[in-house]
Amino acid sequence: MPANPHLSDHERALYDRQMRLPGVGEAGQIRLRDAKVLILGAGGLGSPAGLYLAAAGISQLGIADPDKVEISNLHRQIIHGFDTLGLPKTVSAAEALSEINPGARIALHPEGLKPENAAELISRYDLVLDCTDNFATRFLAADACVLAGRPLIHGSVLRGEGQVGVFLPGRGCYRCLYPVMPDAASVPTCAEAGVFGATCGIVGSWMAAEAIAVILGQRTDSKMLVIDTQVGTSRVLKLTADPACPACGVAAVIKDLIPARYTATTCATPSMSEHPIEVTVEEARRQLATTTPPLLIDVREADEFALCHIEGARLIPMNSIPTRLAEIPQDVPVLIHCHHGGRSMKVTHFLRSKGYTQVSNVKGGIDAWSLKVDPKVPRY
Ligand SMILES: [Zn+2]
Repeated sequence: MPANPHLSDHERALYDRQMRLPGVGEAGQIRLRDAKVLILGAGGLGSPAGLYLAAAGISQLGIADPDKVEISNLHRQIIHGFDTLGLPKTVSAAEALSEINPGARIALHPEGLKPENAAELISRYDLVLDCTDNFATRFLAADACVLAGRPLIHGSVLRGEGQVGVFLPGRGCYRCLYPVMPDAASVPTCAEAGVFGATCGIVGSWMAAEAIAVILGQRTDSKMLVIDTQVGTSRVLKLTADPACPACGVAAVIKDLIPARYTATTCATPSMSEHPIEVTVEEARRQLATTTPPLLIDVREADEFALCHIEGARLIPMNSIPTRLAEIPQDVPVLIHCHHGGRSMKVTHFLRSKGYTQVSNVKGGIDAWSLKVDPKVPRY
């Protein structure tokens, strides 16, 4: 069926307040209406995300979830209710979405996302929201989106902590942050650790807002938002594609979705110890001031080090890095810096290619450190 190039009077009245926003208007509203959006997981995050997307006029929605509604879901999974207990979550969610957007076409995928169906399912949609709660599906969704060239909005929560990732094709993916799927036993499950409903509401709503921005063409970079509602903090990490990423890097090894790669089954949220390819000097200062600071390696030459250096930095000039790898442990976070950030970025990429997943470049090097963090460090 060809897309209708116009809005009806009913649609104009319904979305009037939204269409007044910069970047929306009638053209934006039509883009939202016609976008095909897949929601993986109709749970704590899929509930608010789905409701806000349907209410915003997104009218081609898919819901993938293999579970049924249980009573322990209801404190946070607000798309479901006591009247839908025991029903498939896809059916329960579709009822609620149809009420808020009666014109929407809602496809149900009660088989959920699996290695066997992921490529075909995701290729039918323009954008994917990962609202699932286990590593296996999360990494499967991330890899499938990279392979299909689809933007992915990722969300996860545990206790009061939440993450929202925006991963645009070619701009850095989930595996640029988490190259290897963690051992499921290494982190607590939602059932064990507990979760706040309001935190799900914030993360799911934020996911919906990011999805709308991506559909409207208002996003150009991948990023990760990290919030902690128990202490009341948030920060945004801008992502850069990691050349050593196993999914989207120059020598990517993940070319298909073989089931054996996605066998972990335990519900979990990744650890919060993300290691972007590059951090700002302010972020480096924050990390170095913690009780478990990263190893700071200065890759300039000895004469530069003698001129000035950051306290606590270890000198390993760039050219001697390949022969001194034994001095750099693989299992701890490492920050690499030089004068302006060029040499240290090369070293960061080199170390990533050698399996160092926790190494990050310090953007701008010691010069930025002098300008923004510690003016007592002389510039040269
Ligand atoms: Zn990647």
